[in-house]
Amino acid sequence: MPDLFIGGEWTAAVDGNVREIRCPADGTLVAVIDEAGPKDAAAAIAAARDAFDSGPWPHTPAAERGRLLLRVADLLERDKDVLARAESLDTGKRQVESEYDMDDIAACFRYFGNLTASGGTDRVVDAGNPQVDSRVVHEPVGVCSLITPWNYPLLQTAWKVAPALGAGNTFVLKPSELTPHTAIMLMRLLTEAGLPAGAANLVLGTGPVVGAPLTEDPHVDMVSFTGGLVTGRRIMAAAAPTVKKVALELGGKNPNIVFADVDFDAAVDHALMAVFLHSGQVCSAGARLLVQNTLHDRFVDELVTRARAIRLGGPFDPDARAGPLISAEHRQKVEAYVAAGLAEGAVLRCGGTRPADPALAGGYYYLPTVLDECTPGMSVVRDESFGPVLTVERFRDEEEAVALANDTMYGLAGAVWSQDAGRTHRVAARLRAGTVWINDFHPYVPQAEWGGVKQSGFGRELGPAGLAEYRETKHIWRNLEPKPQRWFE
Ligand code: NDP
Repeated sequence: MPDLFIGGEWTAAVDGNVREIRCPADGTLVAVIDEAGPKDAAAAIAAARDAFDSGPWPHTPAAERGRLLLRVADLLERDKDVLARAESLDTGKRQVESEYDMDDIAACFRYFGNLTASGGTDRVVDAGNPQVDSRVVHEPVGVCSLITPWNYPLLQTAWKVAPALGAGNTFVLKPSELTPHTAIMLMRLLTEAGLPAGAANLVLGTGPVVGAPLTEDPHVDMVSFTGGLVTGRRIMAAAAPTVKKVALELGGKNPNIVFADVDFDAAVDHALMAVFLHSGQVCSAGARLLVQNTLHDRFVDELVTRARAIRLGGPFDPDARAGPLISAEHRQKVEAYVAAGLAEGAVLRCGGTRPADPALAGGYYYLPTVLDECTPGMSVVRDESFGPVLTVERFRDEEEAVALANDTMYGLAGAVWSQDAGRTHRVAARLRAGTVWINDFHPYVPQAEWGGVKQSGFGRELGPAGLAEYRETKHIWRNLEPKPQRWFE
């Protein structure tokens, strides 16, 4: 069966191009899939445009749209195992982690299903005149281009697809060229749930070839993008000539601040999880550890001992605790970051190389790496490595901790650890980030908004604002008894 989904039909690429998808854990061939070009992108945009302008979906009652999203949640739960396996083969991540992702994805559809079905955002406005009926209503934005990365392929897609459909939009989805499978499977589930033809469209291919037209085409009303900062800047510029609505979820270089009075075991454990989960390929990874001077040596010694013990392996290795990086190119990028950090004076405490185990030689593995004695000016501290690389900086007091934490162009997430409740609240209030954890790292719920400040982007996913992102607000003023105004007499 062909892999592109356009106007309710499965189709091959017009130019007949295909791409091999290989598992990053060992290089085995997962599948050969159709690779779209600009003509396919244009066809998908036309189908979404037609479905928005003439199709039933934007005018389907909100309660019914919500019920469809709830059916999708049920189908995701039914197919959890097969979806998780496909995600793991594309990304190399552990099957158990993909299973957690699938639970989160179903919960996301369930949340937006219920939120959509509850309706109720329109309101009557007091126009100061009893002869006027004045209402503010919410409508879908239109045709949305949804562009997603490879690290959490279906999760990032769900954060966009569920609210976009809930609000009544139609869309064209372009996942990362490296991880197409769960997007293909989602199209089947949307169809099975009863979504009308043309409301959901899928093109597979590279960003420059297929993603760019989705950001430039005048028939697209909105671009929602999750990915890297450089691509985000490019997309903003590409969307500017046609003044599209843009939402950007970009990277982060997230601080994890540890004061000396912490619960030591919990803080060390979470510091590991913060940075090494999914081998650091997490936009909210706690990649900058800021630790108070008086605790530094003991904390870092323990962290390094435990980082050295992290067992790497493929998606189906039950003993593995972390998987490979996504590609050879990405590993080279991570290696260059580490090399730059060492050249700038960072002290390598562990990792800093590929694993010696010959069983891992076929995958893109990189050892959990801790770089100590880092300083704010180093590129390894400033730039996102998106790999298993922790930089450690020292601080004296609260003031210096906040200053170091905020000394970044990013503002996605951050955490503060201390048993002093007043201090944690003061620091949380001063961190410039979209999410702050106190004595925790990473958890999120679909009810709470997610997104960044500064160059981590703008717009929000999840929560009520995540649905509002895909809506326009319209004021309808109805004069019940129009009379001449005689202004020009
Ligand atoms: P990229 O920015 O390279 O790619 C993201 C998506 O954009 C891919 O589908 C890519 O296509 C596409 N793309 C690339 N160039 C263009 C273009 N000119 N026009 C339109 N689309 C384009 O990011 P990665 O895939 O490398 O993902 C990692 C990055 O994503 C990290 O920097 C990370 O911080 C960020 N991220 C942020 C998250 C957040 O919530 N803030 C969550 C997850 C990741 P293709 O790759 O197929 O060429």
